[in-house]
Amino acid sequence: MIPISFEFYPPKTDDQRTQLDRTAKKLKAHAPEYVSCTFGAGGSTLDHTPETIDRLHGHHGLDAAPHVSCVGGSRAEIAALLQRYKAMGCRRLVALRGDLPSGMGHPGEFRYATDLVDFVRREHDGHFHIEVGCYPETHPQSEHALADLKHFKAKVDAGADGAITQYFYNADAYFHFVDSVRKLGVTIPIVPGIMPISNFSQLRRFSEACGAEIPRWIAKRMQAHGDDVEAVREFGADIVSALCQRLVDGGAPSLHFYTLNLARPTEAVLSRLR
Ligand code: FAD
Repeated sequence: MIPISFEFYPPKTDDQRTQLDRTAKKLKAHAPEYVSCTFGAGGSTLDHTPETIDRLHGHHGLDAAPHVSCVGGSRAEIAALLQRYKAMGCRRLVALRGDLPSGMGHPGEFRYATDLVDFVRREHDGHFHIEVGCYPETHPQSEHALADLKHFKAKVDAGADGAITQYFYNADAYFHFVDSVRKLGVTIPIVPGIMPISNFSQLRRFSEACGAEIPRWIAKRMQAHGDDVEAVREFGADIVSALCQRLVDGGAPSLHFYTLNLARPTEAVLSRLR
């Protein structure tokens, strides 16, 4: 079986904490290489991510990687956060720029994820394995696709060890992205980010915000299933597992699942993989 990793978000209520515990326990049975926990830009969840990492690592015994997003943060705040993760025994980070909620806050002292990667390398050289984000369908704010590739290459040159993609449902976008960055001399693993489908209207909202395309044929089939939750889940698991199989057959080094703290949609995909 290909290596896999799971992404969670930090729970804020007791119910959400119980749900994360349940999900982490179920997904641990699939022997992930590591799990990660997202970070809310703008400071809203400054403590939630470290607390969740502590829980995933200390209570569940998982290799847990915090996401660190730099927008809105000061050098001193990020330095303190990195020290905290080091003291907790973390060896892997997902380093991102993040997005400030619209109209909120000062952009902070780091402009791009490249600046954060450079900072982590200079402050903690060799301690952290650094993952970064990348966008087979192009980051929505980039001037154009080639500029985005060039900025990604600069982020890798600053010291990234691996990259995880934004989710996508078009395998060709991934293969083309990998070919393009290899031609630029990027050699690090490019791991597809996989978004299982369980709630189509939520997925549509996420996709509009992050610039991921939902192919028309998928949207049409999902609309036809309407409120039939079981049919949406079945169809979603079929198409996402077919996507994963194509990616694995085409050479993807591992798969990173955006779980949204739910075990069932990810397990439905995993159970269909060869
Ligand atoms: P960057 O790499 O800094 O790129 C951002 C934009 O700036 C791109 O358009 C790029 O082309 C452009 N750019 C880069 N350098 C330059 C330059 N020198 N000059 C001009 N333009 C430049 N968000 C969160 O808030 N919390 C999370 O936990 C989180 N986890 C994520 C995990 C993954 C795997 C991915 C793919 C995304 C995640 N995000 C998260 C979303 C991410 O923060 C947003 O997509 C954000 O808009 C960009 O972050 P980045 O690190 O890719 O930015």
